[in-house]
Amino acid sequence: MAQRGSVEISPRGGGEKRADSCPACGAPMDAEELAANLRVCPACGHHFPLSAGERIELLADQGSWEEIATELRSDDPLGFYDLRPYHERVEEAEYETGLSEAMLVGTARMHNMDVVLAVMDFRFMGGSMGSVVGERFWRAAELAAEARYPMVAVCASGGARMQEGMLSLLQMAKTTCAVEMMASVPVPFVATLTHPTTGGVMASFATLADVIVAEPGALLCFSGPRVIEQTVKEKLPEGFGRAESNLEHGQIDMIVPRRELKDRLVQVLGMLE
Ligand SMILES: [Zn+2]
Repeated sequence: MAQRGSVEISPRGGGEKRADSCPACGAPMDAEELAANLRVCPACGHHFPLSAGERIELLADQGSWEEIATELRSDDPLGFYDLRPYHERVEEAEYETGLSEAMLVGTARMHNMDVVLAVMDFRFMGGSMGSVVGERFWRAAELAAEARYPMVAVCASGGARMQEGMLSLLQMAKTTCAVEMMASVPVPFVATLTHPTTGGVMASFATLADVIVAEPGALLCFSGPRVIEQTVKEKLPEGFGRAESNLEHGQIDMIVPRRELKDRLVQVLGMLE
C-alpha cells in the first residue's frame, strides 16, 4: 500500500539547520542517513522538522500535487516596523525558504484517494498565521466542501503573525468558520500536528479536526512551557505540552510515527468517509 521507496527527502532540506548530532540522544548524525530515514533519528526516533515540500513529498502520491491560491501574498496594512519593516521580513522568508507563505494548499492523491492538503512550514516566519495563511486555509476548505474531498492539514506554527496585528488574530475565527463549513457538508477533516504547533493555530483549526493526529515528541500547546513557568512561577511536569502528554489528557487522538503517517491518515479518512 505504501510508496515508501519513492519518498525522497533532501539531506539539505528540513525545517532546521543541519545538525551534527541528534539533539535528543546525542548520536552523531549523517545527513544522508537521516534523510533516508525521513529525517527521524535512527538511534532514538527523534523527529526532525520537515519543510512543506518534504511533507507533500511524504504524503502525496507521486506527481499528484496541484497547488492552488499561489497568487495570494501578504499585505502590510499597518506599515508594521519593529527592527525592520514587515515586508522586508516576508521577502527574506520567501528568499530563504523558496515558498510564497507559511502554508501551501492544494489537491493531491493519497494512495489514490483525492484529498485537499494544507501544509504549513515553520521556517517561514515561524509558521505564523497571517491573512494569507487564513485565506489559503479558507480556500482549501471551500474546495474540499465543493469537491467533497477530505482535507488533511499538517500544522507547524508559532501562532499569530504579530506584524499583522488584529488581522492576524481574526484568522482564528476565519479558519474556525472554514472547519464549520466542511463539517456542514460534511467532509472529513484530519489535522496532523507536528513540532511545534502552538498559539493561534493550536487554538483554532488544528484542534477542531474530526481526528487529531500528532508526531511523536511534538510540542503542542497554546503557550510554550517556558512562558507558562515564568507566568505561574512553578515548575511544570516533565513532558508538559508534548504529544504524549496531550494524548494522555485527551487533547489528541493518536500519535503516529512519520514512517506510518501516510498509511494511517488514509486509513482514518477511509473510516470517516
Ligand atoms: Zn536521537
